[in-house]
Amino acid sequence: MPSIRPLPVIAIVGGGFSGAAMALHLAKSSGTVRHARIVVFEPRERLGAGLAYSTTEATHRINVPANKMSLYPDDPESFARYLDRTNALAEDADAYDGKGSAYPQRAVFGAYVAAELAPYLSSGAVEHRRVAIAAVERSGSRWSLQDASGATYIADAVALAVSHPMPALPSSLAPIRLHPKVVGDATKPGALDVIGTGDRVLVVGNGLTAADVICGLQERGHEGPILSISRRGMRSQGHAPTVQEPFGDFSSKPSHRASHLLRRVRLALKAAEAEGLTWHAVIDAVRSQGQVIWHSLPLAERRRLVRSVRPYWDVHRFRIAPQVKAVLDEAIATGRLQIRAAYIDAVAERGSAISVTLRDRRRQTLTPMDFDAVVVTTGPAHGGVLSSQPFLARMQAAGLLSACPTGLGIACDLRATALGADGRPSEGLFIVGPLARGTFGELMGLPQVTEHAVFVAAQVQQFLADNQELPAFDRAS
Ligand SMILES: Cc1cc2nc3c(=O)[nH]c(=O)nc-3n(C[C@H](O)[C@H](O)[C@H](O)COP(=O)(O)OP(=O)(O)OC[C@H]3O[C@@H](n4cnc5c(N)ncnc54)[C@H](O)[C@@H]3O)c2cc1C
Repeated sequence: MPSIRPLPVIAIVGGGFSGAAMALHLAKSSGTVRHARIVVFEPRERLGAGLAYSTTEATHRINVPANKMSLYPDDPESFARYLDRTNALAEDADAYDGKGSAYPQRAVFGAYVAAELAPYLSSGAVEHRRVAIAAVERSGSRWSLQDASGATYIADAVALAVSHPMPALPSSLAPIRLHPKVVGDATKPGALDVIGTGDRVLVVGNGLTAADVICGLQERGHEGPILSISRRGMRSQGHAPTVQEPFGDFSSKPSHRASHLLRRVRLALKAAEAEGLTWHAVIDAVRSQGQVIWHSLPLAERRRLVRSVRPYWDVHRFRIAPQVKAVLDEAIATGRLQIRAAYIDAVAERGSAISVTLRDRRRQTLTPMDFDAVVVTTGPAHGGVLSSQPFLARMQAAGLLSACPTGLGIACDLRATALGADGRPSEGLFIVGPLARGTFGELMGLPQVTEHAVFVAAQVQQFLADNQELPAFDRAS
């Protein structure tokens, strides 16, 4: 009688976009024959939304056009077709920019991912456990996971997809952390509701989350002054005025030094300008060739790049939707929004107000100012991700995980296998999504996150095939 071997179990911790995309591609590549149980642990009700796409704020839009966001690398129009099929933009008068490109609300993208995953959930090919994982430990050659209630699950492979930790409150704000109008995590639903219409608001940080906050305040009828500060005082950039192909070749002979790469980028910017193109085309080329560029740089050069150009990279590479840019432009034009390169030197409560001394970055002068509310938008603290959740800290202490030396997330090798304290791979433990970007390079925007999820799904399948003497996965379907 043939023996019936139980299916191996793949546990995915975190069912935001990365975890959901990986589950979907694992299930899809298995076709009709199930080779493994795919279990996603995610406390949120819906898989696929995560931090970015679970917002219900109407002003929170995807920051690239819909036809550039897809669950399938070989089918970039998939989301755009979903929008047509479901008429999802019928009620959203502001969804289109003046050139016919759609920038739906982020929740709509979350609904698309959930809809694509739904058949796999109803067939049982993907299982969703609505729990937060509180422990992951080795159990012989397998893994033991525990949720907060103490329930234990055994898995053959584990993928960590817990990308965005809660933003950390800057230490300079510690003296006012209990003030009712200090918003430490602006991504929490209703976080801005404490801010009054006429409140003077200090926004700490000036990236995409700051743009979300300023639009969210506008939507609530806020009319008070807003000061947004960041290290360099740069503001989020919009998209190119016209469609442009990426410009520049940085990958056929990739640079091995950060300074050489930056020189080439500057030259490409000049050449692009001479051809009537904007900087967007060059940055798009760097981004699309990002993984080859990154792999060619030794660790010290990667770190140099992160240290010296990350703020510039972030504002040029992550762009805001035209609708969002219009709100910011108007707020700046009317003087309601000011942007400054400054640090917080000191803070104190003064009655119900918050007294802040700002240090100008260039002149080092000190300016005391009073605000009614402070909103932190410095973004998720990826560098400190291993201390953001006790189970990750314990995995690090057990030598299973280590911080990426670039400061960008969790260390892993080129198979996306986590690297332990001794630098050796923790076999069967994978990192999926933006936390792996220190190894893989640009890995935050959807196209790269999607490709990476497909890649890690294949790595997990290979690992199971190599280690469990299982039949190879059917990749044909
Ligand atoms: C606000 C914001 C807006 C963005 N907008 C865009 C955009 O418009 N276009 C674009 O291309 N990219 C955008 N991005 C980039 C974005 O990072 C990726 O697109 C993608 O959302 C990353 O998803 P993720 O699943 O890796 O991470 P996350 O969204 O952080 O998902 C991680 C999930 O893990 C779960 N989790 C955490 N801990 C545990 C635990 N212990 N047990 C179980 N589950 C756990 C969380 O509940 C969460 O759902 C945006 C990013 C942010 C932060």
